[in-house]
Amino acid sequence: MFSGHMDRVYVSKVFTFTPDCLDIINADEIIRGGTGYYYSGGGAVLPEEIEHIYPDYSLYPDMCKDTAYGFLTRGCPRGCTFCVVGEKEGKCSMKVADLKEFWNGQKEIKLLDPNLLATKDWKELLQQLIDSGSWVDFTQGLDIRVMTQEKADMIRRVKVKQVHFAWDQYKDRKMIVERFKWFKETTGWDYRKMSVYVLTGFDTTLKQDLERIYTLRDLGYNPYVMIYDKHKLRKGSELKRLQRWVNSRFAFAAVKRFEDYKA
Ligand code: SF4
Repeated sequence: MFSGHMDRVYVSKVFTFTPDCLDIINADEIIRGGTGYYYSGGGAVLPEEIEHIYPDYSLYPDMCKDTAYGFLTRGCPRGCTFCVVGEKEGKCSMKVADLKEFWNGQKEIKLLDPNLLATKDWKELLQQLIDSGSWVDFTQGLDIRVMTQEKADMIRRVKVKQVHFAWDQYKDRKMIVERFKWFKETTGWDYRKMSVYVLTGFDTTLKQDLERIYTLRDLGYNPYVMIYDKHKLRKGSELKRLQRWVNSRFAFAAVKRFEDYKA
């Protein structure tokens, strides 16, 4: 870390449970921000000119080598109780940017939108992604519940590198399974391109977690386990083992049933 005196230092963290930075900072002013510090009551809203500024990718040369990162939309109407998005960004998916605000010809685009398909401007935004001709990674989960044939047809015209969905709630099972099945048939894609985040440790049992994991595998998707409040779990807990097994593509392909996973 730079040890000289600084006029101002910005400190940011993503998660509320991440420990604060304990370094002694030699600066006149320290400004803390990011979801890890504030996310309600407008604390996470950036000034207009900052929200729309072209990112300074030179700050992270390795991560941003020919890759653009950004949000086209903010907010989500779902209001899942385990998620901060509604409180942080609002309970409506709203367009906040055009692609060119954070993309300037990079070969790859990593989108961070919480629920892109729920915005009324989805068609315009998908068209911008199609026109870019860049590889697109929908990193945060498209909402399969609002997917339509028209949306799926447009997504197929995007040069998709990876598409992520989420299957967080067991109660949606019947409808979600039908929709995943239909989307797979429509696109012809498989687990190499389609991942599904599976939330565990919130309101589901291990049996329900395994049912979702096996179902996704059988449908041709790649399940990816997320653990709610993971930092509160002891080392070696069952959910941590489950996560290690599923999220290691090699282990998951080699061992078919969780009870046979011995690591
Ligand atoms: S659908 Fe996703 S982004 Fe929206 S509230 Fe639920 S978890 Fe959060």
